[in-house]
Amino acid sequence: MSSPHILVFSEDPAVYQELVHLLPVKASAVHLATLAALRDALPAPETALVLLHLSANNEAEAFALVDEQATDAALVLIAPEVPTISQFNALLEHGVQALIPYPFQAEQVRAALAQALERTQRQASQHSLKENLTRANQQLNERLQEINAIYTIGKSVTSSLDVDEILARIVEASVNLTQAEEGFILLEEDGKLYLRVSKNMNVELAQRLCVEASDPIARQVIHSGRPTMLQRPTKIATGYLVRALLYVPIQSPKRGTVGVLSVVNQVREQAFTENHIFTLSAIADFAAIALENAQFFAAVEAERSRLSAILEHAAETILVTDMDDCLWLWSDNAAENFNIKPDARGQKVVDYIDNIGIRELFVQLSEDKAPVHNEIDLEDGRVFNAQLSSIDHIGRVVVMQDISHLKELDRLKSEFVSTVSHDLRTPLTTIQGYIELLERVGPLTEGQRDFISKALHSLSHITALISDLLDIGRIEAGYDLEMYPFCINDVIQQSLDAHMMLIEQAELRLVTDVPNELLWIEGNARRIRQVLDNLISNAIKYSRPGGEVKVTVQRGADHVIVSIEDQGFGIPLEEQPKLFERFYRVSTPEVEDIRGTGLGLSIVKSVIEKHKGRIWVRSYPGKGSTFAFILSLCSPPAENTAA
Ligand code: ADP
Repeated sequence: MSSPHILVFSEDPAVYQELVHLLPVKASAVHLATLAALRDALPAPETALVLLHLSANNEAEAFALVDEQATDAALVLIAPEVPTISQFNALLEHGVQALIPYPFQAEQVRAALAQALERTQRQASQHSLKENLTRANQQLNERLQEINAIYTIGKSVTSSLDVDEILARIVEASVNLTQAEEGFILLEEDGKLYLRVSKNMNVELAQRLCVEASDPIARQVIHSGRPTMLQRPTKIATGYLVRALLYVPIQSPKRGTVGVLSVVNQVREQAFTENHIFTLSAIADFAAIALENAQFFAAVEAERSRLSAILEHAAETILVTDMDDCLWLWSDNAAENFNIKPDARGQKVVDYIDNIGIRELFVQLSEDKAPVHNEIDLEDGRVFNAQLSSIDHIGRVVVMQDISHLKELDRLKSEFVSTVSHDLRTPLTTIQGYIELLERVGPLTEGQRDFISKALHSLSHITALISDLLDIGRIEAGYDLEMYPFCINDVIQQSLDAHMMLIEQAELRLVTDVPNELLWIEGNARRIRQVLDNLISNAIKYSRPGGEVKVTVQRGADHVIVSIEDQGFGIPLEEQPKLFERFYRVSTPEVEDIRGTGLGLSIVKSVIEKHKGRIWVRSYPGKGSTFAFILSLCSPPAENTAA
């Protein structure tokens, strides 16, 4: 325990001497011999105890003095008279801890002094404990405020995309937490520093700094990436002197230090603390996140507006949906054609767009996400060709082209085809009839007969050509292509029967390998018969006498392969890829004189493709060729299953 400081007041020097001997050994005592000395000495904060020896003359005045100074020290009184109970209570109110009657006994004084000192010390330690507690509480409160401010800023960073608003909040919180006079954020752009937001800064000054701020301390913080705290008069970006400043770097994980969060005291001398560095650094991290988010957002927005501009000017009608088939983006003409309002974003396509074609597209969408096509009829009579494609992790895109003009052309073409079919064939039949009648109207010379035969030959060629051409037109336009289940074994047999005579005339052998099982396919029997006729007649036409024509049917799990094989001239390898083109004919010497239109195989290919099948050829010059096609099998119709 340190030595207590004791004031001893006694106007009687003899009493004072007596009292000094009774004080604790370690105490340092000051003698106050007058009331004036007592008045001057009372305010001293280090005083632990005041020992007052009062007489009838000075009693009232001395009390008044003690009251006036309201000292915290313990009071011990030595008074000439024993007080009444009410007087004693009044003394307690004045803070008197012991009252000793005069003349006193040494032991009584010693005991009273010891007790009073102990009490004072206890009070002092209680007092300091309380103070410590209050300080700790205050610090806790400050920390809580800081954490709360950091939390609030963190929340605003994630809930708002307005970077200026977030930065303003950050500066405001920094100023509040550090109790600074001013705060601001300087950002670096193209090597220059600009003031982005400020708090409590002179408006004019802030505007001037928006142009460019030169601040060597900020530069140094950006360069080092470390905070700077100064407590001396310093000239900063604002152009004036500040007494204390704290600059912390704003560090982006990708771009390094991008700016400085600053708080300054211009008038007050109050310094910033290590704790402020910690808090401001945490807040500055949020500033970095906000800036980064703003950049990402700007980039995404730019992409979006680019996309919108593309959609706006696209000739095609385009709809984009998210993964749940809800509208997301659409071109201007899509809005017009399908009456899509600006607030349609997020609405299910099938609920919002009142068009059967569009709805069918989305319903058809298969599991494997393969593109889906459909023709879309609009109310005004236009027809769109639509393709719906799935884009992983984004959604779906429907691109539509206006094919109304193509549809019209198609209609005209069909009209033309049927007109030509009738108008060309009729006169040819008439010519053929008259030529054939010539022989009946009178005897013909050998030369006339020869001419007639040549004319008939050419006539049959031109009839075949017209017939093939019309067929191609009709097949490609989708006419005469009604699909229904039929038994391919029957069609093969019919075609073979029809060619039997030709096979015999050409001195060929026919070999067949067709399973007994009836094989059903869904297609157009007339057109498949045409395919078989073309392939079998080619096999006959391009064979030498003595050869073999073999027709094989192979059944797969869900398909059938039909192949027509001959031992004829074969086709050079380099010519094979062009065989299925229109009017293409092989020009090798062996086949030069064999008549044909060059359209048969292109008809075959069109028909097979319309049946979603595939055709191919394998051929070796001088050895023969095999033409084969594959078609899907279907289940037999109900009545045949029963049989
Ligand atoms: P064309 O009426 O000329 O027979 P196609 O389209 O049927 O027309 O056939 C095209 C060409 O392919 C023929 O000119 C012929 O040279 C060749 N070709 C077709 N089938 C055979 C075959 N079985 N053997 C050899 N060449 C063939």
